[in-house]
Amino acid sequence: MIIHLNKNIPDTEIQSLAAATKSTWFRSRKDDIPILVTYSSVKELPEILVDKTISHYITDSDMQLSSRRYRKETREIKIGEIAIGGNNKNTLVITGPCSVESEEQITQSAELCIALGVKVLRAGCYKPRTSPYSFQGMGIDGLKLLDKMRNTYGLKIITEVRDSTHVQEVISYTDIVQIGAKSMYDHGILKACGKAQKPILLKRGFGTTLQEFVQASEFILSAGNEDVILCERGIRTFETKTRFTFDLCGVTWLKQFTNLPLILDPSHAIGYNYGVSDLSRASAAMGIEGLLIETHPNPKVAMSDAAQQLNHEQFTALYASLKKVAEAVDRVLI
Ligand code: PEP
Ligand code: MN
Repeated sequence: MIIHLNKNIPDTEIQSLAAATKSTWFRSRKDDIPILVTYSSVKELPEILVDKTISHYITDSDMQLSSRRYRKETREIKIGEIAIGGNNKNTLVITGPCSVESEEQITQSAELCIALGVKVLRAGCYKPRTSPYSFQGMGIDGLKLLDKMRNTYGLKIITEVRDSTHVQEVISYTDIVQIGAKSMYDHGILKACGKAQKPILLKRGFGTTLQEFVQASEFILSAGNEDVILCERGIRTFETKTRFTFDLCGVTWLKQFTNLPLILDPSHAIGYNYGVSDLSRASAAMGIEGLLIETHPNPKVAMSDAAQQLNHEQFTALYASLKKVAEAVDRVLI
């Protein structure tokens, strides 16, 4: 159950009410209302809260703050002047390489964004690689290059946190914090992102159910960060011809039952660039809040995820067709 309390109750009192009702709590950043979240098995408002409560919401699983039972509308999330979710019909395109590799490479990526009107540049600096012997990312030097792209081109930046040793560093440099598929279960990262003042893009772990995915988002939401975006990026199935299986059925479920904006990542799902354009158009046709597509000025020499990145010519062609698909489903590509 989610319980909204009267705003004027002091924090010390809320703390003891939370302890007495076995709840976690935070104050909404939007209107300062104290919000208690107790077990979903609680179906009746606890007696001690009755005269302190503005409203309460009964939920039927530990999908609570993220559920449409709590909030009917998709949350609106602002990234500076850009908004997704809420009443607007924006489908936000995010592109850039898997990793920052050099100033020249990331500048070319930023210039692609500017040429097409893409507003958000992506690139990893701390890479969660499968092998310790492959490129691990440029770390802080990469973050500084992304910062330079922000300042030079006015682009928003999304980059990922790999582990809790650099979570504050990434939070301070980026406009959206990406939590990767391999980190979806890292509670240190989830809780630190729950305290961050930046929107979080949470990727689905490739071996996790939708319920587990959504519950991971609850760690961020219940720590007080109300700006969480979910990202489907493919799950592991028995199929081996493609890198992962893009769970579009799961996307319809998330859209139906959660109040969080959805960004789809076809690049990591398929793992090969031949299918990225088709999957991007299919995703845009689902009326989702955004797309994350990997591009590289010269994919052949990319230091990570070389097989799946589109070159700039391919992305330019895709982008033109995505505009039409978005329009066909009454959305605006931004
Ligand atoms: C990435 O976005 O480059 C990445 C590593 O993604 P994922 O966590 O989905 O594998
Ligand atoms: Mn990648």
